[in-house]
Amino acid sequence: MTGNGVLLEVRHVHQRYRSGERVFTAVQDVNLFLSAGEFVCLLGPSGCGKSTLLRIITGLQRPSQGQVLYRGVPVRGVNPHATIVFQTFALFPWLTVQENVEVALKARGQSPEVRIPRAVKLLDMVGLDGFETAYPRELSGGMRQKVGFARAMAVEPELLCLDEPFSALDVLSAEALRGELLELWTGGELPTKAILMVTHNIEEAVFMSDRIVVMDRDPGRVVAEVAIPLAHPRQRKSAEFLAVVDRVYATLAGQTQPEHVELGSAPGEPGRTRALPHIAINDLTGLLEHLDEAPGNRRDIYRLADDLSVDSDRLLRLTEAAELFGFATIAEGDITLTALGETFAEARILARKEIFATRLRRLPLFRWLMSLMRAAEDQRLKSDVVRMALELEFPAEEAARQLETAVSWGRYAELLAYDDDEEMLYLEPAD
Ligand code: ADP
Ligand code: MG
Repeated sequence: MTGNGVLLEVRHVHQRYRSGERVFTAVQDVNLFLSAGEFVCLLGPSGCGKSTLLRIITGLQRPSQGQVLYRGVPVRGVNPHATIVFQTFALFPWLTVQENVEVALKARGQSPEVRIPRAVKLLDMVGLDGFETAYPRELSGGMRQKVGFARAMAVEPELLCLDEPFSALDVLSAEALRGELLELWTGGELPTKAILMVTHNIEEAVFMSDRIVVMDRDPGRVVAEVAIPLAHPRQRKSAEFLAVVDRVYATLAGQTQPEHVELGSAPGEPGRTRALPHIAINDLTGLLEHLDEAPGNRRDIYRLADDLSVDSDRLLRLTEAAELFGFATIAEGDITLTALGETFAEARILARKEIFATRLRRLPLFRWLMSLMRAAEDQRLKSDVVRMALELEFPAEEAARQLETAVSWGRYAELLAYDDDEEMLYLEPAD
């Protein structure tokens, strides 16, 4: 080990992907350190390159540029000292729980005399004793994920990488499993020297880790680091805990920018095309109505997650949308309704639609879509055509989601109609 206990060093890592015509930067100039004894979270919205970075770190993928060092040595090929636990761990359905753990050991050439007791011990450690002979289908999602942990632990990785390991579980199982992992980690029972966990959930990151590396997307990059000097077990409702959560929200929610910066540019124009945050109109109106009732029409963003019972990822998309439409401003982790937002919140449905339509028309991406349709024959377009045009700007999956969001907003504003059977977009006649 290098003297200062640094296990992992990521140096100027970039990852570019090709998507149709376009090459885009999924990860831009990421630098990070991880020392023995640390539990670090990589936190950021979906699409900011967290999984990509984790694959690069474990050597499953080579970066377009930059370097990963493990104990000071450049990683070439799969890093034997690291393992990943994915969001849904792929267990072999035809093997028992115990055999699923043993596979990892068998692959390393260990004899049954060694691997059987080891597998049994690991299952006991994650609380699955008595389930050794069960098959994956007989287990709940939370239990299956525990088998995943046990299997990852079997090879005694120095560096345990977790990619959103709790996000596919129901709320209660996720919470139980977080607690159990933390107990094992803080109790020193894991053979692991450091944990690097990817999540898009702010509370989860603050609950579990020693340090949060905050990422943002377009392009995926590190925007901040937040240390969490709180002892375990942490109390989610304590003032210290909430203060850290508040700080992370403030980092991720940013600050309202001048309008021309906020709006970005349209596809095909110079400058960055501003992606639409994927939100449902109902959720947005819910947020605005809630702010309208709050004292001073203002609220700490982190408190809204509880108020509205949404997770941090969804909440940040909502606050971003409110800001993009000019319904709210964001500063220092607070969100405040604007006069327009207040008018919207208090208006009836038709007036709301009109306000929404006016605001929607200013969004460059939507403006672009409308002009594309006005130029089309009979003012209608196959949705595929629009999607392909968007693929020049966004990766395929994101292009499809951008289109879906634009169409659902356009329909609400009664600016667009969409025929599901024909997959055709129509311009609503202007009154
Ligand atoms: P996250 O895990 O933060 O959600 P990902 O690392 O999965 O982010 O993806 C970052 C971006 O790169 C996304 O836009 C995603 O669509 C894109 N992407 C990921 N893997 C590939 C790939 N193999 N080829 C092309 N694009 C990819
Ligand atoms: Mg991911």
